[in-house]
Amino acid sequence: CGVIGIYAPNAKNTSQLAYFGLHALQHRGQESAGIAINKGGQVHYYKEMGLVQEVFSDEIIERLQGDIAIGHVRYSTTGESYVTNAQPLVVHHKGGALALAHNGNLVNANTIREELEDEGVIFQTSIDSEVIATMIARQHKEGIENAIKNTMKQIRGSYALVITCGEKLIGVRDPNGLRPLCIGKMDGGYVLSSESCAFNVIGAEFIRDVEPGEMVIIENHEIKSIQYSVGEKKALCSFEFVYFARPDSVLDGQSVYVSRRNAGKILAKEHPIEADLVIAVPDSGTVAAIGYAQQSNIPFGEGLIKNRYVGRTFIQPDQKMRERSVRLKLNVLKENVAGKRIVMVDDSIVRGTTSRQIVDLLKGAGATEVHVRVCSPPVRYSCYFGIDTPTRKNLVGAVNSVEEIREMIGADSLGYLSIEGLIASTSMEECSLCSACFSGDYPMEVPKQGSKYLFE
Ligand code: 5GP
Ligand code: SF4
Ligand code: MG
Repeated sequence: CGVIGIYAPNAKNTSQLAYFGLHALQHRGQESAGIAINKGGQVHYYKEMGLVQEVFSDEIIERLQGDIAIGHVRYSTTGESYVTNAQPLVVHHKGGALALAHNGNLVNANTIREELEDEGVIFQTSIDSEVIATMIARQHKEGIENAIKNTMKQIRGSYALVITCGEKLIGVRDPNGLRPLCIGKMDGGYVLSSESCAFNVIGAEFIRDVEPGEMVIIENHEIKSIQYSVGEKKALCSFEFVYFARPDSVLDGQSVYVSRRNAGKILAKEHPIEADLVIAVPDSGTVAAIGYAQQSNIPFGEGLIKNRYVGRTFIQPDQKMRERSVRLKLNVLKENVAGKRIVMVDDSIVRGTTSRQIVDLLKGAGATEVHVRVCSPPVRYSCYFGIDTPTRKNLVGAVNSVEEIREMIGADSLGYLSIEGLIASTSMEECSLCSACFSGDYPMEVPKQGSKYLFE
């Protein structure tokens, strides 16, 4: 998911700024979009299934007038794909109205939820974010900052949260910093965003990242910081660099573009091959393919043309749809690939749907050899922190060797980036990245496969 928060008490177009911000974060989720606006403590919102552009009209944006806005684009990991599960979540409690938008996934939400349900608490959605909102609301007597702080001490998992209530815009990042969140400044206000790529369109300037375990409170045109948790292992999701984030974003000081290009170069060193042309699986493999071509001195060219109007295939909830959408999305450029030995670079293989079909398409168009190079290690373990790979049986890398996968996808050779290579592609310390879906080394205790607390 993607979250945005706009604090702009003197602006007339607060909701429009949130809308622009959500556009820039659209790649983080295409299932639903929503904006909640706070005017003097009164909260109104609009959310619907679909892309940002489909959900909001000028008229709706015009109607959402206020000083503070939060927005969300959803990519589902917990909870089915219904509008009731869309965010921001708005709750009315004794302390007033509160709106919350969450990127991430809690690992103990079901346990807490059951406890609350035993006490008679009613839930209206099936998303873990409602557990957070409910827990905050129940502690309102402590004041909002303490209520949030106490709640954060009870929940475990990944979260980048933006919250608005009263006169405040609040941002919170989980103690491991699994999901990114950063702060920007604009004329007369502040912005919180999942990624810095949203600042440009809003006219904001990057100030800094929210730190792991930090809560920032923006009120009276000032930012206050509370470090509610210290000493947890820093573990920014390395998949953000592989796939999820936009290349023009900078996460915790690391440019996504630079890390992807480096990763492509390292991949070329780890898995060299003689070939005529390096092509990318657009868009997610493009930057890495450029790096691979630079390092290997094999020319980079276009081999696949993408239809811009088809969304990210992975997000389609079922397998049949996913298969169809690969063909809907990508066409081979016969003129470039026929009679050539091709290196095809993609960012990741998860279920294997994409690679198998593209190898097929390339061979059908007359490529003499197709060498698949993957700019991340085999995905072998489930993610419990907000990337949708929860059941190991669906992960082609969890149950097959590289050679078996090569055969399944019909490639002439297959090479994956190593975990060390992935980490080295960023200039971050090994210990500050999560790479659990590749290594199984989770930054916290996770639910056991097959237990009732396993999501999906
Ligand atoms: P596969 O087809 O192997 O299941 O998925 C791999 C493709 O899906 C890659 O081309 C990659 O760009 C994309 N992908 C990988 N991981 C994710 C993810 O977590 N979310 C989304 N939306 N797409 C992903
Ligand atoms: Fe990211 Fe993988 Fe860690 Fe999940 S398990 S947070 S996808 S690195
Ligand atoms: Mg892709």
